[in-house]
Amino acid sequence: MTTAFYRRIEGTSDFHGPEAVRYDRIMAHAAEFFGRYGYRHVQTPVFETTELFARSIGDATDIVEKEMYTFQPGSESVTLRPEGTAAVVRAFLQNHWAATGGGQKFWYAGPFFRRERPQKGRLRQFHQLGAEAMGSGDPLLDAETVYMGLTLLSELGITRTLTRLNTIGCLAPGCRPQYRERLRQALSLDMEKYCPVCQKRFHRNLLRILDCKNPKCRELASHLPKSHECLCGACEAHFAVVREALTALGVDARLDATLVRGLDYYARTVFEFTHEALGAQDALGGGGRYDGLVKEIGGPDTPAIGLALGIERMMLALETVDGCACEPPLQIFGISLGDGPRRAMVGMLARLRQAGLSADMDYEGRSFKAQMRVANKRGALFCLILGEDELGRGEIVLKDMREGAEGQISLPLGDLMGALLGALRAAPAGAAKLSCPAAEGARP
Ligand SMILES: [Zn+2]
Ligand SMILES: [Zn+2]
Repeated sequence: MTTAFYRRIEGTSDFHGPEAVRYDRIMAHAAEFFGRYGYRHVQTPVFETTELFARSIGDATDIVEKEMYTFQPGSESVTLRPEGTAAVVRAFLQNHWAATGGGQKFWYAGPFFRRERPQKGRLRQFHQLGAEAMGSGDPLLDAETVYMGLTLLSELGITRTLTRLNTIGCLAPGCRPQYRERLRQALSLDMEKYCPVCQKRFHRNLLRILDCKNPKCRELASHLPKSHECLCGACEAHFAVVREALTALGVDARLDATLVRGLDYYARTVFEFTHEALGAQDALGGGGRYDGLVKEIGGPDTPAIGLALGIERMMLALETVDGCACEPPLQIFGISLGDGPRRAMVGMLARLRQAGLSADMDYEGRSFKAQMRVANKRGALFCLILGEDELGRGEIVLKDMREGAEGQISLPLGDLMGALLGALRAAPAGAAKLSCPAAEGARP
């Protein structure tokens, strides 16, 4: 037994076994899924200049105030990315993708970092996948984005999700600024009844008081003015189309006036997906329109909308659906005894892998019995057995691991590939009946 001298940092994770299977399943599906919606894959660095995040997320947010991993390796302060949107917008602008045909719709996935106090569902390194669409203010795109997030979840098998929807208006004087003022007036009457965090928010990030999780604050906030009742005409018309389009797409989105999202750059439509099995940290993800962001970080005035989903949360939700996730079994394990057979086995496995089969062998010089135990432990469907005698005769033994002694035949080496492919095709899951092409006269 070896001792682990180093331990994983709290709030990070090692994916392995069923978790890794679920992670891979989500990633593979996302790549295919977003392609269907016309989104292109984009990979940005895991760190960017601190200023990019401070500017886009907002100085007064919890993220920028206390949750970013910021360091200064040289003259410039850099930060591990706490979210995905700012970097995609930065890449979109820097590479002139709008002008050079690089596309307007992008999806991404990868690790993100926040200096959180570790607790269930709150990680310091977490994984997200997201999608961003630049250049359109069409409310139909808002509806499509909500529908797309929900459909990705349901195609993965994550149902029992709740969609919450709200609008937080725009920066026109008669819209969010006026709403904020009404909110400030209403709140100032009994601000002392709110929790200490909300009292701080009153001065720095007023809207966040609406989504405080404290039960007392929630009760108080339910009587406050609602943002969707204080919209300018354009935002009101926009939101009406979003809701109509969602209904037409069959999405049951619940209007929730307390949904404001934490980031400053959101405008108009905001949404969130929650899952009943996830408890207190029940949000799977969400998103919204961020029409002001591209301009805020130095680009032309460009409306945009996006969403992000938490991969760890999705993995937890999937666990409640499928219980176990199994790794695909190893198809072939090569057992060889002696130097010559070991070398021959390496070449043979290379050809099997080229033919699309999964194959592995022993590289530790184990005994025959020990190699057999490894094959069993790995769940191999078939074993190839090659010793000096077999190699001398130009033969190999093929053993079906799901059968007893009768599931074992000797084959000319040249017939191996055909016999294996045939047996795997005939019964991928159940008992594969082995047949020797030579014995059936199939050999030329
Ligand atoms: Zn407005
Ligand atoms: Zn509160």
